[in-house]
Amino acid sequence: MSDCLFCRIVRGEIPAKLVHQDADTVAFVDINPQAPTHLLVIPRKHIPTANDLAPEDEALMGKLYRVAAALAKERGIDGSGWRAVVNTHGDAGQTVFHVHLHLLGGRRMGWPPG
Ligand code: 5GP
Repeated sequence: MSDCLFCRIVRGEIPAKLVHQDADTVAFVDINPQAPTHLLVIPRKHIPTANDLAPEDEALMGKLYRVAAALAKERGIDGSGWRAVVNTHGDAGQTVFHVHLHLLGGRRMGWPPG
């Protein structure tokens, strides 16, 4: 989608601190970090929300988790712990309608999340 913020980051039209790119995914630092490590791992493909995932997106979503795990390992937080969050629509607080996995770590997390 041409006017989607994260599609524009994927295309390089909006600057972001990229930490990973491959054929299917891009990861970058969240502009408003909620933890010492707060990265967003996104598919290049525009999918608005988790509600919109199709059967052919299963491998892609699995890849988001594998990329997140590799990035957590790179940052040395794979053992101490990290959290993956996919907010979906209003009650969950989704603000950007391009599926993204938040990778949060580097501090103790509370449960349940607020
Ligand atoms: P959501 O609330 O949709 O789950 O998460 C959207 C995330 O995108 C938020 O954590 C927000 O800080 C981040 N974000 C919004 N705009 C930008 C931007 O222009 N650049 C980057 N790097 N992150 C953004």
